[in-house]
Amino acid sequence: MKNVDVPGVPRGLLVGGAERDADGGATFEVVDPATGGVLCEVADAAPRDGLAALDSAAAAGPGWACVPPRRRAEILRRVHDLLLERSEEFALLITLEMGKSLDESRAEVAYGAQFFRWFAEEAVRIDGHWKVSEDGSARVLVMRRPVGPALLITPWNLPLALPARKIAPALAAGCTVVVKPAEQTPLTTLKLAALLADAGTPAGVVNVIPTSRPAAVTGPMIRDDRLRKLSFTGSTEVGRTLLAAASNQVLRTSLELGGNAPFLVCHDADIDAAVCGAIVAKTRNIGQACVAANRFYVHAEVADEFVTKFTERMEGLRVGPGTAPGTDLGPLIDDQQRARLVALVDDAVLHGAEVLTGGTVPAGPGFFYPPTVLTGVSPDCAITREEIFGPVAAIQTFTDEAEAVREANHTEYGLVSYLYTRDLTRAVRLSEQLESGMVGLNRGLISDASAPFGGIKQSGLGREGGNSGISEYLEEKYVAIDMP
Ligand code: NAD
Repeated sequence: MKNVDVPGVPRGLLVGGAERDADGGATFEVVDPATGGVLCEVADAAPRDGLAALDSAAAAGPGWACVPPRRRAEILRRVHDLLLERSEEFALLITLEMGKSLDESRAEVAYGAQFFRWFAEEAVRIDGHWKVSEDGSARVLVMRRPVGPALLITPWNLPLALPARKIAPALAAGCTVVVKPAEQTPLTTLKLAALLADAGTPAGVVNVIPTSRPAAVTGPMIRDDRLRKLSFTGSTEVGRTLLAAASNQVLRTSLELGGNAPFLVCHDADIDAAVCGAIVAKTRNIGQACVAANRFYVHAEVADEFVTKFTERMEGLRVGPGTAPGTDLGPLIDDQQRARLVALVDDAVLHGAEVLTGGTVPAGPGFFYPPTVLTGVSPDCAITREEIFGPVAAIQTFTDEAEAVREANHTEYGLVSYLYTRDLTRAVRLSEQLESGMVGLNRGLISDASAPFGGIKQSGLGREGGNSGISEYLEEKYVAIDMP
């Protein structure tokens, strides 16, 4: 790497337990978003490399499925322990290629490691069941088997935790995988795969193919009938395309897609707690999280207090390179993302919003954008309909609870909603009414390896984590036993 040395980062494709160049020898550049400079080059997989990785996963599949669950669990547990031991190396790498502060990167390593620990524990609890058929003439034995080789496609915003959330349950279930990391952040995933090998994962069980041509490389893999599972995290737009492609093979598909989370502050909320939760939900990962609060609905009675305190906290956040001590907010991932944000804020202002803080792109290198608060945001402007993916809070007020819920639900997304209230009945009522797969009740941080993470509506299909996470990689088979 040009400007820093992080040990043990492969730059080649990882296929069948070996590091190698791409077919044709192409490479692509990985950029540091804090400077705009090139960090290093990485092998750029061609379509043939994707199929070679699938060959490898398919060949390793039967062997891995037969590894005793306790042994699979021990390997996954070792991955967890090694991740924590090597946390500083991973944190630095995440910060370099993705931009967020080192503290946030350390938190991501800890969060990612939790999935390996959680699914280590699940690997030994895969069960089936047995029953007497209704008329007594047969016995029904139900078993759960690994679905088979899986293609895992991940985005750049959590380059360790999101691959971990897929690799851990897949391996626990007995599936082998090919991981296609985002082109902006391949290094962390490559280093994770190297660590998986160190922990004892056999060759071919985990393959990684960075590429700058995702559709060309994954298309032939999705059409190949040896592939049995597709798990994708990324934008709803790409998710739709992949779902259509997967339908030809009737491929088992899980999708974790975009969000447009509403953040409701009721008149009876603990405002200081709501401000703390709002800061976390809005600025974690520099606002580049599918679970980021997008639209704030604050009851008119408490709006002044909430807005004043929240704006003060936003203004106090320090923007800078993720590697600099004291940084709260690193850069956005790239200039394209920043230009989107500028356009969304301009459009909101055009529709009557007031900028209380931020809103101006700083001079200098890197893709920085300041923490920004907008009030008086019109429900019709793009910032309330689209995923913001940046540290911009768009605040509206409400007086009628039913109307606020209608507005909150007025989106094609349904990943998470946040709700602050001290009234238990209201909390339960609104949690039921909000159309999302997850609700943060008096809490701005909901991610947890033990909970079923996922969305409804156009935010996705399936769940990652919790007791249901491993089911995404298992299929049921029953044996009917004749009992004459
Ligand atoms: P993206 O959809 O552009 O890319 C995601 C991944 O898909 C990348 O690896 C990319 O290379 C690959 N890809 C892109 N086009 C492809 C194609 N045609 N065929 C195959 N692969 C393709 O998303 P992004 O910009 O990297 O990530 C941001 C998005 O991810 C946001 O919408 C965010 O909400 C979403 N996200 C969702 C979750 C969740 O759990 N629901 C978590 C994190 C991010």
